[in-house]
Amino acid sequence: MGDSFSYLQKAISDLTSHPDISGLISSRFYKSKPHGPQDQPDYLNAAVFIETTLGSESLLDAMQNIENDNDRVREGVKRWGARTLDLDLLFYGDQEINTKRLSVPHPRICERSFVLYPLQDLIKKTKDDLVINKSTTILDCINNLSNTEKNNIMEFDHA
Ligand code: ATP
Ligand code: CA
Ligand code: CA
Repeated sequence: MGDSFSYLQKAISDLTSHPDISGLISSRFYKSKPHGPQDQPDYLNAAVFIETTLGSESLLDAMQNIENDNDRVREGVKRWGARTLDLDLLFYGDQEINTKRLSVPHPRICERSFVLYPLQDLIKKTKDDLVINKSTTILDCINNLSNTEKNNIMEFDHA
């Protein structure tokens, strides 16, 4: 919702300037059609790698504060409807977390091209191998995407 390019850049700069976050590396930016309700503009997506001393829930707090600072409204909003900014924790090291507030790795990574393509950029940059469960890799997920989902993504050229 709104100027998604500015919101995405601002989110990255807010993460970068957070005192407990360092070493941020960003993927390229990608445009995709919305999942869920179709009566909303295209989405702009990226994934970032960070290092942090924050525990997972404190990191989620920091992410939600950044969403709020960037005009995210939660009340009375339909699920997967338009929003200015959405920050999800995809991985936290190699930990599996299942609490009231957090499911990590994020449970819908494998079906979303707008997550998988940015993650593939990061794997190339960081040489980290991200594994969703014991045997499924990002590349496995990409290979298993439907053609519709595979084609629902375009690199966003912001040079
Ligand atoms: P989706 O999870 O399908 O991408 P969404 O991002 O639109 O949906 P939100 O409304 O932003 O969902 O978040 C709802 C709740 O999900 C948050 O309040 C948070 O506690 C919880 N949550 C669980 N796991 C995660 C995670 N890995 N990253 C971010 N939020 C999470
Ligand atoms: Ca999300
Ligand atoms: Ca979210």
